Amino acid sequence: MEKKITNMEVKRKNRNGVFRYICKNGTVSNPDISYHLKISLPTATQITKELIAEGLVEERGEMQSTGGRRAKALSAVTDAGLAVGLDITKNHIAFVLTNVVGEILKYERIYQPFVAGEAYYQEVSDKLEAFLDESGIDRDKVLGVGISFPGIIDLDRERIADSHILGVKELPFASVSKFFSYPCSFLNDANAGAYAEGYHYEEAERFFYLSLSNTVGGAVFSKKELIQGKNFRCGEVGHMTVVIDGERCYCGKDGCLDAYCAAGRLADMAGGKLEHFFELLDQGEAEAVKRWDSYTGYLAIAVNNIHMLLDCDVVLGGYVGSCIGTHLWDVWEKVAKRDTFGEKDPYVKACHYKVAAAALGAALKVIETFVSQI
Ligand SMILES: [Zn+2]
Repeated sequence: MEKKITNMEVKRKNRNGVFRYICKNGTVSNPDISYHLKISLPTATQITKELIAEGLVEERGEMQSTGGRRAKALSAVTDAGLAVGLDITKNHIAFVLTNVVGEILKYERIYQPFVAGEAYYQEVSDKLEAFLDESGIDRDKVLGVGISFPGIIDLDRERIADSHILGVKELPFASVSKFFSYPCSFLNDANAGAYAEGYHYEEAERFFYLSLSNTVGGAVFSKKELIQGKNFRCGEVGHMTVVIDGERCYCGKDGCLDAYCAAGRLADMAGGKLEHFFELLDQGEAEAVKRWDSYTGYLAIAVNNIHMLLDCDVVLGGYVGSCIGTHLWDVWEKVAKRDTFGEKDPYVKACHYKVAAAALGAALKVIETFVSQI
């Protein structure tokens, strides 16, 4: 039997819908809300009145006249809630401060090599406080800290199950969060990148985020949510075999995609600087061209396999996705050749956020938790 919906639930859903609509559209009127959300004008007016009283929405004068009485202009109070995103990687930490509408208010990336142990987390917490000091925000408005971590995040058992790259195993969330003065939530790095991408991704219901950084990972984003899988390993395509008995992967197996498509495969020949590799490629430097040809060959196999499985866009993210620019077409050309169904519409895309994607995604998850409870 279908669940009976109570009046309370309808009211809550409407309130939530109205707040999201205002956040997304900037300045709107009650008639706009009523028309677009298909609720009566008195209901829209009552809800916005409540949201104003709660300090979540504010009046900003009147809308431009479209004939008749001018309607009140309504906007979200953007700093009604703030969130911090923290991206922990092997050698760096990135901080992002965002508000309730997902704007980046401040961003910083610092060199801080990961060292397992309490001193490291204390240091990160101190750096975070310094970052917040500089931003000059009211600390009471910080809803929480979203932490992006390069590893398997077990949300059921509340622990970082495994991070090969950082040499961490079975690390309880609590042993990290105790160093911070705000509620902490954890997200895998590829998931966090996908979440940032998906926050503004409306047209498509589903996409795959292929993270091409120091390691290769991925995430499936569907209907505004991340698909986690039975063991929180959904999208771990870095360990898909692309070459039988191929090169050794850091995981210990042979022929994984990671061994062919980690960003280091390109950056290695440019002094470790990926931007420099793309400069060489732009200049047509022979070795760089050869390396890119080989790299995109394996990447095209992966993209084609993912697309065959999920039939959706494949967004290239991570360091390579951020630097790829017009070279995206080289990938698409090879993918198109492999595509059995001859699809003409390029479904390989470059990521929207070129910096701070993982930190932003982790922060946006905190914002989403807050908004979903309005
Ligand atoms: Zn592997």
